[in-house]
Amino acid sequence: MSNSLEPVSDGEDTRTTRKLRYRRIIVKLGSALLTSGGSRLDLALMASLAEQIARLRRDGAEVIVVTSGAMAVGRHRLDIRVDRKETTFRQVLAAVGQSHLMHAYDQIFAEHDIIVAQTLLTRRDLADRLGYLNARNTLLSLLEHRVLPVVNENDVVAVEEIEGAKIGDNDNLSALVANLVDADLLAILSDIDGLYTADPNVDPDASLIRRVERIDASIEAMAGSGHGPGIGGMVTKIQAARLATASSTDVVITSGHESDVIGRLAQGEAIGTLFPAQVDRMESRKRWMLAGLSLRGSVLIDDGAVQAVVGQRRSLLPAGVREVQGVFQRGDVVTICDSDGRRIALGIVNYSAEETERICGLRSERIEEVLGYQYGSEVVHRNNLVAL
Ligand code: GLU
Repeated sequence: MSNSLEPVSDGEDTRTTRKLRYRRIIVKLGSALLTSGGSRLDLALMASLAEQIARLRRDGAEVIVVTSGAMAVGRHRLDIRVDRKETTFRQVLAAVGQSHLMHAYDQIFAEHDIIVAQTLLTRRDLADRLGYLNARNTLLSLLEHRVLPVVNENDVVAVEEIEGAKIGDNDNLSALVANLVDADLLAILSDIDGLYTADPNVDPDASLIRRVERIDASIEAMAGSGHGPGIGGMVTKIQAARLATASSTDVVITSGHESDVIGRLAQGEAIGTLFPAQVDRMESRKRWMLAGLSLRGSVLIDDGAVQAVVGQRRSLLPAGVREVQGVFQRGDVVTICDSDGRRIALGIVNYSAEETERICGLRSERIEEVLGYQYGSEVVHRNNLVAL
């Protein structure tokens, strides 16, 4: 089904592309927003958000949606009015609600000929190097295929034991996703228009803070405590902003009810509260990799590969690898050295040391023949490489 030839409701010509400030954008949609404060999904609002996202993609942006709302939908479907805190009860709600939530996204985006992919993540997986690599590769491949990932936490298995019987919040999850794919902007959309100096429902002098240069204790104190049908509140949004800005993503917290909010944010318009990124992308990736740097592992590459990797920012193929040093596993960070042993780059490897040893010097087409399987034609994909 397609209505892409029909004019959009604001009457603008959707064929003219707008100039965007941000290219890779995470849009986090909270439960309070998706239900407009009611007990069921606000499909009209979802359709408007989908239209904004569709237009943004035509403008050249890559978008990932992080959605809440599974529990809210499950509660409605099961007609449960009481609120119980036990994890299992909440997991039942989320399990029932998730498929209905996805069904709604599927239908709404089909109107724009956009294919969506349900992407359930658990934080525990992301803390693990291999899980991180696999999730990153899958999300980036979905974007390459022009599929729209719709991410939620896999609530059925996600139990944050540290915090007691509580399912994690999607605000923090959205920051992890932003970090995972090196997003330029994380737009946390809910039913509040940003961070206020005090609770605007209580304090008539409360004013909206437009820009937060650094998140310190005074900012955290303004966040108050959680509210509404989702797990998060301003506290978790500020935590998410802290996490994402530390890894090169600008963060905006604002209301999803603002007209064309996603498109306007993508163009760099100041709406809600902006938290500018603290570091640039290369620096952030470098830090992340250095933090996980396995000193035992390195690969020595030939001059042609040095030129490709550093000069042209291309992937490192097995053909360019001359020597493997140390022991490392798929998903580890290794040092990449030139033939004189000088460290020139860091990268997350697709193959273990033992596997790399067996395929080094070979053309990528031969990986499968030699190993009996393959994880891609690169030893290190260019997405997972930083030059030093
Ligand atoms: N994953 C939960 C859900 O979809 C929401 C968590 C949150 O509200 O932050 O219902």
